Amino acid sequence: MLGTGIIKGMAQTAKNFVGSYSDPKYLTTVEYPEQRVPTKENNRNFPFLVFDGEEAMVGLRCVACQICEKECPPQCIYIEKDKNKKPDFVGKDQFQPAVFDIDISVCMSCQICVEVCPFDAIKMDTEFELSQTNRFDGLLINKHQLAKSNDYYRGIHPTEAAEIDAARAADVKKAAAKAAAKAKAEAEKKAKAAAEAAAKTEADAADTPES
Ligand code: SF4
Ligand code: SF4
Repeated sequence: MLGTGIIKGMAQTAKNFVGSYSDPKYLTTVEYPEQRVPTKENNRNFPFLVFDGEEAMVGLRCVACQICEKECPPQCIYIEKDKNKKPDFVGKDQFQPAVFDIDISVCMSCQICVEVCPFDAIKMDTEFELSQTNRFDGLLINKHQLAKSNDYYRGIHPTEAAEIDAARAADVKKAAAKAAAKAKAEAEKKAKAAAEAAAKTEADAADTPES
């Protein structure tokens, strides 16, 4: 019958309205900001930079490769690479960004920067209370404001962060196995060269006539 859907919708609205006076399950809104609805895991807003370890500016995963800057559709990422490498949180020399700014008044939350980053260094945040009185400089977020720990990332996107932690641990294991195999091959090469040199010295000594 024509209009049945409207009648059903109005009946549900009336049920929620009357029910909300006696049972909180009928309440469809909360009194923000005193009350908050828990953020969903796949929620996303603007990007942030992930760091490992305790010190943000030491543990940044970003190596300033600038891929995200090139791929960002509205061009709202600004990066300047450090002139020299410096030790990261495990002591490995890496380039890092001297400047890494995102203009969130321009960012459209597309997540392309996250998808193109080869180092899992940039991820989407769920933070949304970012209003400012200055719409220009106030919304240009620098690397100190963008840096957030891997623990924070695990807190807001636990499933995704666990997958990345596992992949990074597997990469570290693979790199360690490769380094061990290379060290073993070099040791074997050196031992072989030493054995050949010793055999040659012995043969030369045998060929030398006694006076
Ligand atoms: S989310 Fe999209 S628009 Fe925003 S910084 Fe990343 S690539 Fe640029
Ligand atoms: S966030 Fe990733 S893609 Fe962007 S500069 Fe840093 S390492 Fe490169």
